[in-house]
Parts: sequence; C-alpha cells; structure tokens
Amino acid sequence: MEKAIAEIAARLGNDSISIDDEVLFSHGFSEWSNHNADRLPVAVVFPSNTEAVAQIVKICKMYRIPLIPYSGGSSVEGGISAPYGGFSIDFVNMNKIVELHREDMDVVVQPAVSWMDLNEKISESGLFFPMDPGPTAQIGGMVGTNCSGTNAVRYGTMRDWVLNLTVVLSDGSVVKTRRRPRKSSAGYNLNGLFVGSEGTLGIVTEITLKLAPVPEATAVAVVSFQSMRSAAQAAVAVVRKGIPINCVEILDDVQMSVINRVGNTDRLWEEAPTLFFKFAGSEGIVKESIAEVSKIIKDHGGSDFQFSKDEKSQKQLWSARKEALWSMLSLRTSGTGVWSTDVAVPLSRVADLIETCKKDLDETGLFGGMVGHVGDGNFHETILFDGEDEKAKVEKCVHDMVENAIDMDGTCTVRLNPFKIEDFMLTNWTS
Ligand SMILES: Cc1cc2nc3c(=O)[nH]c(=O)nc-3n(C[C@H](O)[C@H](O)[C@H](O)COP(=O)(O)OP(=O)(O)OC[C@H]3O[C@@H](n4cnc5c(N)ncnc54)[C@H](O)[C@@H]3O)c2cc1C
Repeated sequence: MEKAIAEIAARLGNDSISIDDEVLFSHGFSEWSNHNADRLPVAVVFPSNTEAVAQIVKICKMYRIPLIPYSGGSSVEGGISAPYGGFSIDFVNMNKIVELHREDMDVVVQPAVSWMDLNEKISESGLFFPMDPGPTAQIGGMVGTNCSGTNAVRYGTMRDWVLNLTVVLSDGSVVKTRRRPRKSSAGYNLNGLFVGSEGTLGIVTEITLKLAPVPEATAVAVVSFQSMRSAAQAAVAVVRKGIPINCVEILDDVQMSVINRVGNTDRLWEEAPTLFFKFAGSEGIVKESIAEVSKIIKDHGGSDFQFSKDEKSQKQLWSARKEALWSMLSLRTSGTGVWSTDVAVPLSRVADLIETCKKDLDETGLFGGMVGHVGDGNFHETILFDGEDEKAKVEKCVHDMVENAIDMDGTCTVRLNPFKIEDFMLTNWTS
C-alpha cells in the first residue's frame, strides 16, 4: 500500500492522495449508514479526470488494493465502507456539468455533480432531473445505488434516466456503454448492469442523463387518517386508479409527533397517520388530480385535504416530510442506538405489512417511527434503543419485519446489527 501511495503521488501529484486521519474517517464511516465496517480506508485518492482514474485503477490492480468509490457519501447501506482497507476514491475534483443539450433534453455530467446543484444550474432550460434521494447525493453515487426518491411513483428509478456511462473497468480500460439517443436496441443493456452495481463492476467517470420538462403547475397536499391501514389503502387506491401524482409518502403518528417535538418546521401538525401528496402537470391536470384524490381520501375516512399551490406554502407543507429523518435522529442521546429498516412489498400487501409492523413496533414499547414511499410499496422504520435488552427487542422486531416482507414476495435492504455512534469516534481510529 505504501508503494501504491508513493506511485500515485508521483504520477498524479501529492494533492491527489491523502492519509490524513480525519479524511480517512470521513470516507470510511457514515452516520447515516446502517452498515459501518470496523476498518477505515488506508488512503483517499482524488482523481481529476477519467485518465487519472484509469491510472489509479492500474496501480491498485498491480498491488491488489481494493478501491471503493465515494461520491456524496449519503448511501445508507454501507456502500462506502472499506471492510478490507484499501483506497477510497473521491470524485470531488470531477464535479462539472460537461454539456447541456437542451434540445435533446439530456445532460452530460461528472460523478461529483450533486442532483440539487444540477437542477439549480439548469433551471432556466425549463428542464430538470427528477431523481431526489438524500439531499447531499451526487450523480456517481446515485448511479451506484440505482437511487430513487419521493418522485419515483411518477419518474421511476435512476436506471430509467441513464443514457450513457463512461466506466473505468478493473484493469484500467475505459468503456462507454452507449451513445446519446434516447432509444437504442443495439447491444447488451450495459447501463442496466452498471447502474446499481455500487462500484463493484467499474468506476463511473461520466454520465449522460435524460432530463424531464419542468411541469407547468405543482401542488402539495397533506391529509391525516385514523389508522395506518386506511392511510396505506388510500395511497394504493390513488396509484391503482392511475391518477398522475408525482409522489405519495406516509408518516405515522409517532413520526408526526417527533416533527412537532423537534420543531424544525414552522407549524404544528396533527399527530396522526398522514399522507403527503405531490401533484404536477398542466393546471388542468393538477386540478383534476386533486379532485380525484380528495374523493378517494374521503372514501377511506381521511380528514379534509390541506393543499397549497404557491411555492412558499408548498415548501411549508412538504417540510414535515423533508424533516422526518433528521428529526428522529436528533432525538438520539449519547449511548442510544438507532436501527433503520427498509422493506418493500407488492402494492396489494402494503397495508397488511404496515399494519403488522406498526403493531409489532408498538408491542416492543420502544420509541420508533415509520416513514415510507408508500406509492411504491416501500417503507422504513427508525427505532431508538438503549442497552442490550432493548437491542434484543429491536432485533426481533426487525427480523419479523423482514420475514413478513419476504413472505409477501417483498424485498429488504436491512442490516441485522445496528451501530452506536460512540463505537466509531475518531479517537478509536487514530490510536
Ligand atoms: C436523508 C436521506 C434521505 C434519503 N432518501 C433516499 C431515497 O428516497 N431514495 C434513495 O434511493 N436513497 C435515499 N437515500 C440514500 C442515498 O441518498 C442514495 O443511496 C444516493 O444514491 C447515494 O448517493 P451518494 O452520492 O451519496 O453515493 P455514495 O454514498 O457516495 O455511494 C453510493 C454507492 O455508489 C458507489 N459509487 C459512488 N460513486 C461511484 C462512481 N463514480 N462509480 C461507481 N460507483 C460509485 C459507492 O461505492 C457506493 O457503493 C437517502 C439518504 C439520506 C441521508
């Protein structure tokens, strides 16, 4: 490893590699991740173009050193961990929007472009990039995880938006998966292979993305229910009816009360199971969709719709959904563990699974909330615990949740051991 570090510094300059403890820690440990390895990377490399990435890969191949790509570091399933040491490869110097093709509705970017910056920078084109995972996520990592976000009900996942990738393979050779046309029936579906492969098949150094037109009108609506089952059933009924919503998100009563307690949004919310909707399209479509959704909500016993069409109050209404995770995490005290879960089931089983999981969580007596992309059959629980007894209860609850989801022909990306922040303090690593 020392030889490789020296060789990279000699070829790409001293600034292209770091062995600083804090840099290693920030690249090997993530507070958001459910998975953290008990090791850190040995060095972090900072290439500035595809050729530099290829050189780093060749050197690492020669010395048999693992390489772990790092973009925004917001992934929650341990993708940036370095369980065998090795080098983290950070694309911070590859953060350019290379070309915007307004007429073709696509854009070529480097891996460290953040999706939020991209949308801000191209806003005048009347186009936007619709994937919306964690706010700090960057395109390279979004390709790595095949991310989605709240907009997935309407816009699908990352895989649907990638046109072409430049990838450095493990021998240092460089391939392009396709070219820019939106449609191509030629050759293997290499995009489908690389998107979601978390850097295990190659390192992505340039990405061509499709863009969508910014909708003429948008609106946000919030509605509460007596039970999680009726909220989930209402959401599924809206999706089944084919009403063109952008997203529908579910939060349980506990999660809503946490948002009130933490007070990061500038109003108080009803502490009940709640659905958040986003509508987008022409003025007429938005109006029609709101009318249709509000009828379904009534049929499922929902409260009156609170909805808003101007940008400021839309942001206010959406703020509770946006603050959900941060609010829950901010309640952690020293020594408290947090366990996040992630399951998805076919739409017809969402209400059953949510109801079962909510009952199981309540029975543990532990503090935990539920939030989910219910329109895609996907939801999460975030459970706080203190001490071994509570940990055992959460463990059972999470195992049951996963088993129930699998029995319903669903899926999970959950880890079976939680972490405590104290286990990973910087001092542990520097000693
Ligand atoms: C508050 C919050 C909300 C979130 N909401 C969602 C959500 O709704 N939907 C969702 O899907 N995710 C969500 N996430 C998770 C996360 O934002 C996504 O997984 C995102 O795609 C990760 O992007 P990143 O740039 O942070 O990737 P990183 O964490 O840096 O990397 C992710 C993976 O991709 C690999 N990788 C990184 N760069 C490259 C590259 N150039 N080439 C090849 N592989 C690479 C990494 O090795 C790693 O395996 C959320 C996270 C947070 C903190």
